[in-house]
Amino acid sequence: MERFEYAHASTRQEAISLLGSSWDDAAVLAGGTDLISLMKEYVVTPKRVVDIKNVEGLNGIHSNAEGVTIGALVTMDELLEDKTIRSEFPALAHAAQGITSAQIRAMGTVGGDLCQRPRCWYFRNGYGLLAKDENGKSLVPEGENRYHAILGNNGPAYFVNPSSLAPALIALGAKLQLAGPKGQREVSAPDFFIIPKSDSERENVLRPNEMLASIVIPASSRGLRSATYEVRHKTALDWPLAAAAVTVKLEGGKVTEGRIVLGHVAPIPWQAKEADKELTGKSINESVAASAAEAALSRAKPLSQNGYKVKLAKVAVKRALLAAAKGEA
Ligand SMILES: Cc1cc2nc3c(=O)[nH]c(=O)nc-3n(C[C@H](O)[C@H](O)[C@H](O)COP(=O)(O)OP(=O)(O)OC[C@H]3O[C@@H](n4cnc5c(N)ncnc54)[C@H](O)[C@@H]3O)c2cc1C
Repeated sequence: MERFEYAHASTRQEAISLLGSSWDDAAVLAGGTDLISLMKEYVVTPKRVVDIKNVEGLNGIHSNAEGVTIGALVTMDELLEDKTIRSEFPALAHAAQGITSAQIRAMGTVGGDLCQRPRCWYFRNGYGLLAKDENGKSLVPEGENRYHAILGNNGPAYFVNPSSLAPALIALGAKLQLAGPKGQREVSAPDFFIIPKSDSERENVLRPNEMLASIVIPASSRGLRSATYEVRHKTALDWPLAAAAVTVKLEGGKVTEGRIVLGHVAPIPWQAKEADKELTGKSINESVAASAAEAALSRAKPLSQNGYKVKLAKVAVKRALLAAAKGEA
């Protein structure tokens, strides 16, 4: 590991003032379950690490008329222990349950989950975020791409967004509150994630001197039915191969509003808007769920080794929809 300075912040302002104007200057440390391994492998080498674990106001899950606010430092265990999350937002609880390592659930935070870096093995082995060779050509399309993107993969990024919580939060209409030197700004959950165009960019809109402070699920999402279905390698302590988070608003048994968001299939959590339309006005049954799954993957363009993910993602959409319709929590 490169030498680094360790700084410990107790207020947001202090944390922000300790961050820098470039990603090389400083990195936010929450639970450390991803950052420390990246530093050990020299994939990221920040000059300073800013520990935010004791920053006030980033903890806890609070409900009010606006909705439910989840502090960035809430751990997966705390998320799962929360009655409101379990009973009202099953899609989010299912996604957190999928992270089966007890250690990660105890240490890993919601903010860290949303900001974790891609698991792309080229990136993790020092080839950079866009995994290019010395001539600037991506190694992925003709390389080892079985876990890479099947959607949003026109390049230059081919990795998949690794967050299991992100699709659920997008389906639930969440907003993310970002703290920076000028105060707080809010972005909708889908707008937080971006496809980088160069190795120096990141996978989200955070600036080097900003941090994620909290996530707000609006009160309007409280009555929605929701579910997440993940397809994994047996019960491995690993990220899903494909996942779908869905929310549906039902009136008289028919969908008046549906949202399907795919995870682990594109460089950003993938909003399958074509499929949302398939649901409107219909009762969810096997055939409607299967049609929505077909629509959700209609634009998939698998790479040389990952065609199998298309089928898995369709299964995830279908099963998530059927679970949400039944109200299976
Ligand atoms: C074996 C294993 C299995 C896993 N399986 C899954 C899985 O199935 N699904 C899944 O989603 N995840 C999975 N994870 C990842 C895990 O969820 C993350 O490592 C964890 O959530 C990161 O949280 P953290 O608090 O430890 O973040 P850290 O390691 O502290 O930080 C991670 C990154 O986010 C940045 N960061 C953290 N908090 C903030 C903030 N508030 N503002 C701005 N930037 C911030 C850091 O600078 C760093 O770049 C797995 C991890 C392991 C090791």
